[in-house]
Amino acid sequence: SDSSRIIDGKAFAEKLRAKIAEQVAFLKEKHGFTPGLAVVLVGEDPASKVYVRNKGEQTKAAGMASFEYKLPDTTSQAEMLALIDKLNKDPNVNGILCQLPVPKQIDPQAIINAIDPDKDVDGFHVVNAGKLATGGEGLVPCTPYGCLLLLKDRLGDLAGKHAVVIGRSNIVGKPMAQLLLNESCTVTIAHSKTKDLPDEVRRADIVVAAVGRPEMVKGDWIKEGATVIDVGINRIEVNGKGKLVGDVEYATALPRAAGITPVPGGVGPMTIGLLLRNTLVAACRQRGVKLPD
Ligand code: NDP
Repeated sequence: SDSSRIIDGKAFAEKLRAKIAEQVAFLKEKHGFTPGLAVVLVGEDPASKVYVRNKGEQTKAAGMASFEYKLPDTTSQAEMLALIDKLNKDPNVNGILCQLPVPKQIDPQAIINAIDPDKDVDGFHVVNAGKLATGGEGLVPCTPYGCLLLLKDRLGDLAGKHAVVIGRSNIVGKPMAQLLLNESCTVTIAHSKTKDLPDEVRRADIVVAAVGRPEMVKGDWIKEGATVIDVGINRIEVNGKGKLVGDVEYATALPRAAGITPVPGGVGPMTIGLLLRNTLVAACRQRGVKLPD
């Protein structure tokens, strides 16, 4: 049936957050500390404001401390670096996240690499990217990490599966490909210069679409029985009304796929869940405490 094909990221993320709340409560009771996440927002980007508000609310709902910094869009890179330095030194702040994009006078890579890698809960620091690539205990980017959990929940062992990742950004496509490689998938990374994308997708047991183009991946590209993870969040207008769609043409892909994430309600809710998990993991490492079961 169609409903058994739908991969419910919202329900999975709710369970994940409930478990994190229990782990946080245990840490408070047995070890006397509360994990803390600092989120820094520069400027007035409306989508970023919504993300930051949701992150703050869910951090508090999980019983963690939320530190929110809202800076004007005239903030200089030096001011931003000074704030990060302060947060790096604050023992109550276990995770630091700078909401992207930042205004043009600030170099996002300089900001990311100024964060203590042990507090880099977005997993974008060059040290964490390097650990993901070479095999070390780092922090893994939240969105691809969420995609991986959904795939493993659905498919179990991923070894030997042919995965096609569409998109090669540092925040989604590249770390996704790395995670799938670490699971012993055979990985193809497609991008804007790929010659025949439909043909690449037709060979895939697992398709992860992270492009940012509404419904670009057509249903008839999907191999029968493939699992499809749609990372795209695209706002389009239908009959004058705003609507969110993914990078995959959901209606035509659903009957062919063994499993597919909807948009909204698929990958999106997982991202904050993994952000909370990364904060919990970072806090335990910084305090030298075992991660509660
Ligand atoms: P980027 O714009 O950074 O990367 C897009 C990638 O898609 C690039 O590698 C680009 O290739 C590739 N691409 C563009 N056009 C094509 C094409 N015609 N065929 C094949 N590949 C193409 O985006 P992000 O990785 O940051 O995000 C991707 C999507 O995921 C967006 O819709 C974003 O909103 C969403 N997203 C959702 C999140 C969530 O669910 N929480 C979190 C992060 C992102 P090239 O490198 O050659 O230019």
